[in-house]
Amino acid sequence: NALTDAPYLKSLNEPQRQAVLTTDGPVLVLAGAGTGKTAALTARLAHLIYTRKAWPSEILAVTFTNKAAREMRERVGRLIGDAVEGMPWLGTFHSIGAKMLRRHAELIGLQSNFTILDTDDQLRLLKQLITAADLDEKRWPARALAGLIDEWKNKGLTPADVDAGESERYANGRGQELYQQYQARLLAVNACDFGDLLLHALTLLRKHREVLEQYQQRFKYIMVDEYQDTNSVQYLWLRLLAQQRRNLCCVGDDDQSIYSWRGAQVENILRFERDFPGATVIRLEQNYRSTPHILGAAGGVIANNGGRLGKTLWTELDAGEKVRVLGVWDGPEEARRVGEEIESQQRRGLSLDDVAILVRAQHQTREFEDRFISIGMPYRIVGGFRFYERAEIRDALAYLRVVSQPADDLAFERIVNVPKRGLGDKAVQKVHQLARAEGLPLTSAAARILDTDELTPQARRSLGNFVGDIARWRQMGQTLPHPELARQILDESGYTAMLQNEKSAEAAGRLENLSELVRAMEEYESLGAFLEHVSLVMEREGGVRQPEVTIMTIHAAKGLEFDTVFLAGWEEGLFPSQRALDEGGTASLEEERRLAYVAITRARQRATILHAANRRIYGQWTSSLPSRFVGELPPEHVEVETTMSGGESLWRANWSERADPFADVGRGTGRGPGWQRAAAGGFTRDAPRVVEARASAISFGNKGRDDLSTGMRVFHQKFGYGTIDAIEGNKLEVEFEHAGRKRVMDSFVSIG
Ligand code: ATP
Ligand code: MG
Repeated sequence: NALTDAPYLKSLNEPQRQAVLTTDGPVLVLAGAGTGKTAALTARLAHLIYTRKAWPSEILAVTFTNKAAREMRERVGRLIGDAVEGMPWLGTFHSIGAKMLRRHAELIGLQSNFTILDTDDQLRLLKQLITAADLDEKRWPARALAGLIDEWKNKGLTPADVDAGESERYANGRGQELYQQYQARLLAVNACDFGDLLLHALTLLRKHREVLEQYQQRFKYIMVDEYQDTNSVQYLWLRLLAQQRRNLCCVGDDDQSIYSWRGAQVENILRFERDFPGATVIRLEQNYRSTPHILGAAGGVIANNGGRLGKTLWTELDAGEKVRVLGVWDGPEEARRVGEEIESQQRRGLSLDDVAILVRAQHQTREFEDRFISIGMPYRIVGGFRFYERAEIRDALAYLRVVSQPADDLAFERIVNVPKRGLGDKAVQKVHQLARAEGLPLTSAAARILDTDELTPQARRSLGNFVGDIARWRQMGQTLPHPELARQILDESGYTAMLQNEKSAEAAGRLENLSELVRAMEEYESLGAFLEHVSLVMEREGGVRQPEVTIMTIHAAKGLEFDTVFLAGWEEGLFPSQRALDEGGTASLEEERRLAYVAITRARQRATILHAANRRIYGQWTSSLPSRFVGELPPEHVEVETTMSGGESLWRANWSERADPFADVGRGTGRGPGWQRAAAGGFTRDAPRVVEARASAISFGNKGRDDLSTGMRVFHQKFGYGTIDAIEGNKLEVEFEHAGRKRVMDSFVSIG
């Protein structure tokens, strides 16, 4: 049969073929990581075109990122040659929404050349509205309103749909009114924000029957990748489009739903079968990506989640290497070790393009960037800015530059009104004029203009304060250590408070980046040395493309694969994130666990999980516990290695300043059942963090080390030598020679 010889079918297995060949009617492909869902979807697109079931322009295919859309387009091109006439509608929900919107802009009240606002524009506009509404922006931050509006848009709610209860979430019930005003303003300036690309696209189909019918006719086939991460507005839009012909094929994996914080609803998978009765459900079970050890490790972790749809995964690949778990001393050692590992694999022929470092939080990239720069290892940061290019880092650096280099006009300009100090453009222009006329740096001109009546009293006061602050910070710089100086500047300038007031997840991330910046400064002997390092880092761009290590967040890595993957910072409070721990409850923890599953399953051949015993936060050593997810890795698939190279003496020098997380585990609860209850998640939301951390340390599971037995002499980094008195799973009761009787984790002792 000519069909089965089609180039795009050759490499597919039976259920994948079914997903490709079942072109008519609703199809749901539900399958685990690396089973070839995206490959099947790509082949399906090729098939529809190749067999002339539809013209490319009659197909709608939704991917999760623009990059994925590009790849799919290229792959289809390769599979069926260049004979593709016209183009399918292939892209993210946002890009397809924008395309549709441009065609029918006038129905929404826009012109087709509307602009799409970025976050900064959006916030500026909201601030104006908040002020005009006589609200205190400090109390009711624009960012909070922006987050709320985005949430409503993700749910498909127009201002008219927002009820009193929802409205109550901002400024005592004024949320709805401001949302309405915001939408009106956007239309007035012929603009829309990101959420509008989805919401307007839905409104278009809902309110304009002729448009809906046109697209229902047009799109003979609709396909969606990463379906588990669609949110309500996307789902509603899809359902309308597909309702007529019902040729909708969605592929996804409930275990990889990691965007609930952006409104994604994994329930959409369950809704699919209800909304499209008679759907063909296809399960793919053969994994082509990862070795059995990698799959086993990932499967062991995700098995701890409840309410899963459940899937089988198998592979024909050779067992390969076990997943390595590497305990290191601290962050810098983590970066150093990863650098060394990559270099040694490079010598064995590995290309840097096949290596990825995946982190839970953006700020974790910094230590790797610094290390790689110093050893000359090429890297790229995907899905985010390089650390020193992020807005808040640039702002903070601008403050430091103004203080250390009085003539740095660019830095002065950047922060003269950040945070807002009531200095209008006029006032700033005047300072510029004076500076030009007298050949002065802006800071000097600013000081000089204060003696004149050029400025309004209000502007004069603000500028005076700012100039005074700079002078004072310069003075402080003479005596204070530079990280401390940076901290003070960020506080006294109101920059930290500005972010704290925002109370958004994004602002929290920015604050973390700032602490990371201060931490980075500690490694340099002076402010000048640090700033020089930064300018060298920033200049590194350009040149021909060479193989590079990829550094990115797990979120950004969805759908991708690499031969070698390093998973950094698997520690309680970092991964799972402190936010998830603080929220309590299983939902956020389970989402973190799905992230862990996504992370491990990115690896084809080698995965290394790292955790550091210490993280330095604001100059304070904090000991950290290995992530509970480390404890959930099935022992048969992992190989544990703890190298605290050179760390021991450091630890000894510092330990007295540190809280030891295990010193009195179980105190107050006694041993036995009480613990287990805590371990099972019985602690309340209000429980202090440290208690949660302890409980989670206990919940690692009961897999103990088999090289330890009672009566054995062991060495513990904090308590020194002692004799094991009792062993309970992975916890030891040890009689220490100096510290007395303690309970410790077995992973923290060595045989003495
Ligand atoms: P994820 O859940 O991570 O998005 P996925 O299910 O979309 O994964 P793909 O990315 O499509 O999986 O495929 C994983 C790997 O397996 C790719 O390298 C792909 O080329 C390969 N692959 C897919 N199907 C087959 C097959 N039938 N034979 C051989 N290799 C395959
Ligand atoms: Mg995929």
